Amino acid sequence: MDVLGRRRFLGVGAALALTSHWVQPITALAAKPRSGFTPPTAAQRTAALGSLKGLSAIEVRAFDPADHFEPMGEPEPGDWLAEHVERGQTFDQFRQSKANRPDKRRSTIYFLPLGEFDPAWSPEMADLEACARAFFQIPVKALPTRSMNGVQVTSRERVKGPTQYLTTDFLRMLRGELPDDGYCILGVTMQDLYPDPKWNYVFGQASLRDRVGIYSFARYDPLFWKEKRTPEARELLLVRSLEVLLHETCHMFGMSHCIYYKCLVNGSNNLEESDRQPMHLCPICLRKLQHSVGFDVVDRDKELLKEYRRLRVTREAEWLERRLRHVKG
Ligand SMILES: [Zn+2]
Ligand SMILES: [Zn+2]
Repeated sequence: MDVLGRRRFLGVGAALALTSHWVQPITALAAKPRSGFTPPTAAQRTAALGSLKGLSAIEVRAFDPADHFEPMGEPEPGDWLAEHVERGQTFDQFRQSKANRPDKRRSTIYFLPLGEFDPAWSPEMADLEACARAFFQIPVKALPTRSMNGVQVTSRERVKGPTQYLTTDFLRMLRGELPDDGYCILGVTMQDLYPDPKWNYVFGQASLRDRVGIYSFARYDPLFWKEKRTPEARELLLVRSLEVLLHETCHMFGMSHCIYYKCLVNGSNNLEESDRQPMHLCPICLRKLQHSVGFDVVDRDKELLKEYRRLRVTREAEWLERRLRHVKG
């Protein structure tokens, strides 16, 4: 298997007020019942978008899927929706959930790099910052890198693989680091993580209520899998890091996993599945974010396009060009 090799991940229960995109328990390969997922019909997708009455012509076009989005179909065996029960979250349900929204007091997303970042094999923090700013349309600031020496986090040594650090200790530490104007603070690290002694590892974990999250990019470096560091893998590192950061930050706005279209906010069971998913929001998820932040949809698309072109995120840039033509009318 290559670096994309099949690995299984499970989500952490919402009852803990935690959201985690990818978690692997030691017993993850045990047989699980099928989720019974049925792909939503066209009528259900339209209903999930909600009434567009009162919106501007540009907004109506921005929330019109046209033929730019692939509706969610039957999941493949092993996919997230084959193994996890997801009810979906309509726009109206999102609006009624009264999730956190950026306001005058709490308006900035903070990233806190934790531990060493090898410049040759880490995503550029400034690039993640610029893309997230364009994506969420609120200020995003990367704080100075914090050495692991000054951080009180439980760790464990493993027979195979690198030292791992306990996410819950990071989350506790981050709670005390949220700046007064912080909408949320997300720790990012190249260290491998685990959420509980019973689990093998975790890619990230967050608490919406406390506005904190911690994410690891360690497993996006081919060296982690004892594979060669190639230029292609370097490009993939940026895309994957960006994808997980954008996805997880969407959860910080109260957005649940999307079941309506192929979308950034889809759940993902493994790297192969998340690599198949787009980096953009479907119309339903875009409407949720727009409701929360109140941005101009065209300005956002233009700023994102500029960043994706600059960083040569080609697939998304090409898609966004087509989309922008449709939205502008
Ligand atoms: Zn998720
Ligand atoms: Zn969506």
